Amino acid sequence: MPKRVPLFIDGEFVQSEASDWIEITNPATNEVIAECPVTTTDEMERAIASAKEAQKSWREVPVADRARYMMRYQALLKEHHDDIATILAEETGKTFADAKGDVWRGIEVVEHAISAPTYLLGESMEHVARSVDTTSWVHPLGVCAGITPFNFPAMIPLWMYPLAVVCGNSFVLKPSEQDPLTAMRLAELWVEAGLPSGLLQVVHGRKEQVDHLLTHDDIKAVSFVGSATVGQHIYRTATHHLKRAQCMVGAKNHMVVMPDANKEQVINNLVGASCGAAGQRCMAISVAVFVGEETREWVDDLKKAMAGIRPGPTEDDNAAYGPLISAAALERAERIIGTAESEGASLLLDGRGHEVDGYPNGNWLGPTLIDNVTPEMTCYTEEIFGPVLVVMHVPTLDDAIKLVNANPFGNGTSIFTDSGAAARKYRHNTEVGQVGINLPIPVPVPFFSFTGGKGSFYGDLHPYGKQAYRFYTETRTVIERWFETDIPDGHGGPNMTINLG
Ligand code: NAD
Repeated sequence: MPKRVPLFIDGEFVQSEASDWIEITNPATNEVIAECPVTTTDEMERAIASAKEAQKSWREVPVADRARYMMRYQALLKEHHDDIATILAEETGKTFADAKGDVWRGIEVVEHAISAPTYLLGESMEHVARSVDTTSWVHPLGVCAGITPFNFPAMIPLWMYPLAVVCGNSFVLKPSEQDPLTAMRLAELWVEAGLPSGLLQVVHGRKEQVDHLLTHDDIKAVSFVGSATVGQHIYRTATHHLKRAQCMVGAKNHMVVMPDANKEQVINNLVGASCGAAGQRCMAISVAVFVGEETREWVDDLKKAMAGIRPGPTEDDNAAYGPLISAAALERAERIIGTAESEGASLLLDGRGHEVDGYPNGNWLGPTLIDNVTPEMTCYTEEIFGPVLVVMHVPTLDDAIKLVNANPFGNGTSIFTDSGAAARKYRHNTEVGQVGINLPIPVPVPFFSFTGGKGSFYGDLHPYGKQAYRFYTETRTVIERWFETDIPDGHGGPNMTINLG
């Protein structure tokens, strides 16, 4: 019997009464390693009610004390970095280095949560009118919810609940049903950090459980990270139910290569940014846009470099990346690769049917390079989410900008060039939310916000940075007037209001 993943409700790890269980597999072997419950309606209600109750007293805890809990949590996450990464690697198939990176980027967000007292300062102004002062106070919202994807099972939950909770809220997390074990380990350490019961609840399941959160009166804000179609449903449903929502969704990220760029850097960065983490990153570079005729011959070197890497299991230190998350994800990526040649592209490296010794059943996809791609081709219009790089050629930087801006997504992009003027022109004119100059994956550190844009984001306030503190709070403004003439005789001193006339 595979182990059954518990729910985390009201501070307790409890076995679900669910009748429906989802199998969690190791992507390198497709062996079932655990089962995840489809949370019952009664359990969903208990989680939300417990979160609501816990928030009432938590909001009264001084903000510096709330931040101190985050210090303890940060220390525990660091202490257990390797053991979290081990669990994460088993259920995602990531290389150990990637798994550790996933956890580390989450730890950095917890460090950002420790700065809450500064970020939660309100604003005030004295004497906005005679004897009138105005102060705006920052208040928590109540119960917030988060729905997270499979590809960063530590980092993305940690984008959400530490910041929501340090702001004085409680939080219900619904991690991906494909890899929920990491979230449970994060919850165990949360308990160890001594956080009061009920502030974090973890429920599992699919659409029905998510919809329960989206439509529940006691959920005040929803954070979602995942695919575009699901994100649209989440944003529409949550806002229809008058909730605040932020949805970070799919992507197709272009790297523009100018002829004056450092060729070796271009090749190395393209390989890592397209195939790293098996291409299962919302900020992966999936499109290389070569500008000018002279860059055409670089594709040969790119092909050689990509052919020199290979996927492998977590314990293989020489593997560049791991398997895809599921057999279904592999089947989908292979199907899209299969459309390339019939639609007129050149399949320079075909990763389909890749085999890894000792792991005959893993979801392996070798590095795949598709050249001469045009915008209407399926391999360009679809987010493949695999170690697949499509190559396009344009004559000028203006054409590259036009191409990137015509794409519906806008999560990240980059330009490699030796020209400050070209870099500035690209940065200024591209409509993408995060731009890298001579670095391929422009993910900001947590004191900035993660500002994916256009069709990669629905909402207005982004994850982490200052914006997260705004997302998880509301501002209340107090305008007060005190009449000096009301100070009892003999106690008030000279009446300044009258003296100043
Ligand atoms: P997904 O949309 O399939 O699942 C995400 C979450 O939504 C899961 O918890 C899942 O249970 C839930 N869900 C699935 N179908 C649902 C439905 N019909 N109704 C309600 N909830 C539903 O995404 P995924 O495959 O786990 O993750 C990969 C996607 O996430 C990619 O598109 C990637 O680009 C995107 N992503 C975006 C960012 C970003 O910051 N923009 C970051 C990471 C991943």
